[in-house]
Amino acid sequence: MTLTTEIIPETLPELKPDIKEFTREELTRWFHEKGIQPYRTTQIMSWIYLKRVDSFDEMTNISKANRKLLTENFSFSKPYKKQIEVSADRSKKYLFGLKDGNCIETVLIPEKNHYTLCISTQVGCAMGCRFCMTAKSGLIRNLTQAEIINQVLGALKDVTGEKQLTNIVLMGMGEPLANYENVIRAIHILTDNDNGMQFSTRRVTLSTSGLITKFDELGRDTKINLAISLNATDNHTRSMLMPINKKYPLEQLIDACARYQLAPRNKITFEYILIQGINDSIEDAHRLTKLLKPVKAKINLIPFNEHAGCEFKRPEESVILKFQEVLHQKGYTSIIRRSKGQDISAACGQLSAQKSSSNT
Ligand code: SAH
Ligand code: SF4
Repeated sequence: MTLTTEIIPETLPELKPDIKEFTREELTRWFHEKGIQPYRTTQIMSWIYLKRVDSFDEMTNISKANRKLLTENFSFSKPYKKQIEVSADRSKKYLFGLKDGNCIETVLIPEKNHYTLCISTQVGCAMGCRFCMTAKSGLIRNLTQAEIINQVLGALKDVTGEKQLTNIVLMGMGEPLANYENVIRAIHILTDNDNGMQFSTRRVTLSTSGLITKFDELGRDTKINLAISLNATDNHTRSMLMPINKKYPLEQLIDACARYQLAPRNKITFEYILIQGINDSIEDAHRLTKLLKPVKAKINLIPFNEHAGCEFKRPEESVILKFQEVLHQKGYTSIIRRSKGQDISAACGQLSAQKSSSNT
């Protein structure tokens, strides 16, 4: 495990709005009002999101007068890596410091041929899931568009060599659909092919605990992949694990998933944490296959990641394999997702907002 701390950023309050808080349309409108040609938006976005510069001064094909105008009207935030931890399996956990002193965690995961980045969408989370470390702090606040994007820009600085960062999962701290507007604005920049960050929508996945009232909008607003944290096959168990189930019980959740507008040949991923003695029986496996019948589904089994503050245990390996076997027999694609970065608490559900107060 390696610990690194980078330089402290400027701490003066920033009164000008951050250029990374704006969409392409908003910037174009602003430039238009100032009499600047619309193609400048593309040029400026290209500097920020493709060439990934850190200041307006570096935008050499923008005239001095226009750079001055930008500097006078906008600030330019930089991702601030307060701490980086490297796991034995080469996963990297970043602790990003935010302007108000809060912190968020982001995990860069090396896969065979590419990197995946797991990003946060809120500081803390209000959903109160029993098994999840992030739930312990409650919701502190939503992340802004720039704070979501800066996690990707910050991690990209460390991605060198042949392997590229191609996959983004919104599975870090927070419930993305509870911060809908900022999340969608950030996704639009991430997947903007016209000098935005150019991630493929097929390689961006949003994971939700099941805020079904946002599903229709999400299907309309983006074509990214959807993942559902399911974790139980009956309402009693799911409500015990995930309080949101009391509001939107399984029947409603599955209905909303069946209606969800999927891209052709795409499936919804159902994440199922296996917890010893709670949801890991053969009966659960059978119920799961029945429950998911109305949906085009694939299943990710996640052996529970144990952490202090939660009494749950991970099942024996043989139990996990038997559970998976039932799913396969019933024709479901399922993988067992062995979380990386466990030695640095970077695995699923181990991210925490607790550090923020002690470190600032
Ligand atoms: N709030 C969103 C996204 C972030 S949680 C959601 O709930 O989907 C990301 C994933 O981590 C979820 O699938 C959640 O079920 C899983 N998770 C949380 N705590 C975990 C733990 N202790 N072990 C394994 N997975 C966990
Ligand atoms: Fe929030 Fe997701 Fe954790 Fe539940 S599992 S508390 S929704 S981050």
